[in-house]
Amino acid sequence: MRPENAHQAVLLRLLREGGRSRAELGDMVDLSRSKLNVELDRLIELGLVEPDGLAESRGGRRSGKVRLSRQTRFAGIDIGATSVDVAVTDGELNVLGHLSEPCDIREGPAVVLDRAVTLLGKLREQGLYSQLHGVGIGLPGPVSFPEGVPVVPPIMPGWDRYPVREAVSEELGCPALVDNDVNIMALGELHAGLARQVGDFLLVKIGTGVGCGIVVDGKIYRGVSGSAGDIGHIRVDDDGPICACGNSGCLEAYFGGAALAREATAVARSGRSPYLAERLAAAGELTAQDVAVAAAQGDAAAIQIIRDGGRRVGQVLASLVSFFNPGLVIIAGGVARLGHVLLAEIRSVVYRRSLPLATGNLPIVLSELGDIAGIVGATRLISDHVYSAG
Ligand SMILES: [Zn+2]
Repeated sequence: MRPENAHQAVLLRLLREGGRSRAELGDMVDLSRSKLNVELDRLIELGLVEPDGLAESRGGRRSGKVRLSRQTRFAGIDIGATSVDVAVTDGELNVLGHLSEPCDIREGPAVVLDRAVTLLGKLREQGLYSQLHGVGIGLPGPVSFPEGVPVVPPIMPGWDRYPVREAVSEELGCPALVDNDVNIMALGELHAGLARQVGDFLLVKIGTGVGCGIVVDGKIYRGVSGSAGDIGHIRVDDDGPICACGNSGCLEAYFGGAALAREATAVARSGRSPYLAERLAAAGELTAQDVAVAAAQGDAAAIQIIRDGGRRVGQVLASLVSFFNPGLVIIAGGVARLGHVLLAEIRSVVYRRSLPLATGNLPIVLSELGDIAGIVGATRLISDHVYSAG
């Protein structure tokens, strides 16, 4: 069920921020009172909006309140390299239920999407929905947004051009949209995170890979073919390590999850970090999380790994800031949990290397949404579609 015209779409998006009185909506849109009431009554007839009592008097007759239908349900699916998250929200994108499971993306689309649908089925059994109005899906690789398919995703064997949007839409019986995980995280920040009041910002995700969500005037900028923001493969050093993409010296080859694990292992074996050596002996392998714990305990070698990585991210980010002049930069993703040592290093490089006019009013912050940024962003993505005139 979609709105019939652009006025109705605007009203639905305003109501997505919470219920309002007809009088308040009248102040916010460019419509006569009678036209506004016609559109709202039509939205109520369509079942997209419902009456919600009377507002406090503003001096005259009390205005009727309206809100999005309490029956509206969106789903978000956030597929990572090693996990799948699903959530169901109401029309205002409040998370009603959220499930997460470890899941290896390399098992291929049939298995992974089936896991996601099964998890959503559990939320249905809990009574959270009977019919979904739309589902947004995030994938950890490049996506052709208009087609809803992944395109040559490096860490997703078997997924190339798999019709993810069609398959999920058919399975769940509702509209579906697919985007890459970084873009949906940026949408999550725009909806519920630190970017709520910011039209132009960058979200840098540092996880298994490194990527950047670009938001221009409140909308994701995807570029001509959907690869905008793929900063993990910007070269930071001609003689650097070989990257998964085949080139050398990419940012991601220095500071993705895999690179961190490799460096931590080297440090542990060299004897420079008793803590990491002990962890390696106990667990057989090291992860970014081990580096974070070591750093938090004051381990000098771990702190140096994070500083080196932060410096390289900062170098790339300084160029992006000079080029794009964002109002905010959010650092997110698993490696962002390295926390304030990482943030301090990134800030110092960006503030030192960019022009004062670009950084004078530029907060660089860690995401506060954590794990739910992706699923909230996925529901924001599909609700933008459902709440637009068809
Ligand atoms: Zn690369």
